[in-house]
Amino acid sequence: MAIKDYLRQRFFPHIWCPGCGHGIVLSSLLHAVEELGLAKNDIVMTSGIGCSARISGYVDFHSLHTLHGRALAFATGVKLAKPALNLLVPMGDGDALAIGGNHFIHAARRNINITAIVMNNRIYGMTGGQFSPLSGCGKRATTAPFLTIDQEFDVVKLAKAAGASFVARSTTYHAKESTLYLKKAIMHKGFSVVEILSQCPTHYGRKNKEGDAPDMLELYKDTTAKLGSKALEKNPDLIPRGIFVEEERGEYCEEYDKLVDKAMGGAR
Ligand code: SF4
Repeated sequence: MAIKDYLRQRFFPHIWCPGCGHGIVLSSLLHAVEELGLAKNDIVMTSGIGCSARISGYVDFHSLHTLHGRALAFATGVKLAKPALNLLVPMGDGDALAIGGNHFIHAARRNINITAIVMNNRIYGMTGGQFSPLSGCGKRATTAPFLTIDQEFDVVKLAKAAGASFVARSTTYHAKESTLYLKKAIMHKGFSVVEILSQCPTHYGRKNKEGDAPDMLELYKDTTAKLGSKALEKNPDLIPRGIFVEEERGEYCEEYDKLVDKAMGGAR
């Protein structure tokens, strides 16, 4: 199946601003799905609200565009009802770690077989550029005209601490790397998190004087480094990319099934 066959072409042109990183994330994801040879009918995508969440409208999978912050809650319900399906959950800063933060840590804790994609653009783009839990200190936003003083979450550390059994980070500059991690995350049995740094030139880039989309992509190239690389060894201030966690642990739906089987004494 060609990449375009995974798209709902009737919904194009998309709503994203020129240079938005979210289109690159979509492309990396579709390449992952295509390279894995997944059938459209075997994939369910749930999303919340925001620029990132619009992805679910453009893919020709089973898709649910749900409530802000509840994408993982919907995905959990679908997965428990239909465990054979592949659940993909693209989320922005708010869906993943503000209003949706509790769902994020509990989905990780349960190790339910869902692929969470955190599209980290460090701002609330759709609602006009308010700062988010991923903005970090000293950043300018609509709601922080004198700069932010809130510490940001480190998505990787949070996912790891909450119990996610696969955790990776990439950027939109490293689109092929993102595809590789997404493929591994989709194939992983358990809760997987792929954080992709994704530029919002319209709000974050403009307010924080990071330039336009190509400048922001260059920044991802210059400020990140692969885990285990010499560059990271020399400069630990660089943001590490790579796979941080990949471990086997009991998957929630399977464990739940075992529990029910035991309680029913094999009568199911
Ligand atoms: S506001 Fe930002 S995140 Fe939203 S579509 Fe525009 S560039 Fe992308």
